[in-house]
Amino acid sequence: MGWKITRSDEEWRRILTPEQYRITRQQGTEPPFTGEYHNFKGEGIYVCSNCGNPLFNSAAKYDSGTGWPSFGVPVLEISVVMATDKDGMRTEVLCQRCGAHLGHVFGDGPPPGGQRYCMNSAALEFVAAKCKG
Ligand SMILES: [Zn+2]
Repeated sequence: MGWKITRSDEEWRRILTPEQYRITRQQGTEPPFTGEYHNFKGEGIYVCSNCGNPLFNSAAKYDSGTGWPSFGVPVLEISVVMATDKDGMRTEVLCQRCGAHLGHVFGDGPPPGGQRYCMNSAALEFVAAKCKG
C-alpha cells in the first residue's frame, strides 16, 4: 500500500521506542492491562504514535473490559484502514497515513456502530483537549 509517510526500517527503529516498534512495525500486541491507556480517562484526541495522525476521540472510548484501549468509532472513517490479519481471521487496523499497526476491530462493540476498535496503547499518543475560554 502507498502510505503518505514512509520511512526505512532503520528510521522507525530510531524514532520509536522498542515496544512501539515491536507493536506498530512488527504487528505486535501488548499484554492486556499493561498499556498506558487501557484505564485512562482523559478528554482529548488519541493520535498515531508513529506519525501524529488523529485516530480516536476520547468521547468514543469505552471500557470493554479487555485490558486494551477500546473505541466505538475512529475520528474519521478515513483515519484508519483495515486489512485482513495474517492469521486470516481478524481484521487488522492500520494508520491511514503511515501504515502503523494499531490493533484489531471486532464486531462486538457498543451501539450504534457495534464496532470495537481494540487498540494497543503503544500505537497511540494522547493529546489533551485544549481549555476553552
Ligand atoms: Zn501513523
